[in-house]
Amino acid sequence: MSTIFEKIISGEIPADIVHQDELCLVIRDIDPQAPCHLLVIPKKVIPRIGNAVENDQSILGHLLLIAAKVAESENLSSGYRIVINNGSDGGETVPHLHVHVLGGRQMKWPPG
Ligand code: AMP
Repeated sequence: MSTIFEKIISGEIPADIVHQDELCLVIRDIDPQAPCHLLVIPKKVIPRIGNAVENDQSILGHLLLIAAKVAESENLSSGYRIVINNGSDGGETVPHLHVHVLGGRQMKWPPG
């Protein structure tokens, strides 16, 4: 069964898309946890970072570079946080790899 992110990638379900290229899509999170909350989603189905393989190296690097690029275009010059949740203890709810980019407020440490 395909995940919500596969349905967004295929266009079956609408999303607020802020960037798209051959490898990934960036959308606004439907339940934002900060004034700016973006999700960088690879078009390739990789369930989670723990399932990525050697061959995914360039995709993974691309996701981080795009995360920094969209943070800049969202004017998050005073800082932002990048998060990847892996598995149930990690807080993962959608089993399709995605990088959260959160900004526009002071982040706390340790995260909850
Ligand atoms: P995670 O908990 O790390 O798996 O993150 C999944 C994220 O996807 C959550 O922050 C959700 O709010 C977000 N999300 C779920 N469905 C949608 C959707 N249809 N459009 C945008 N974001 C979504």
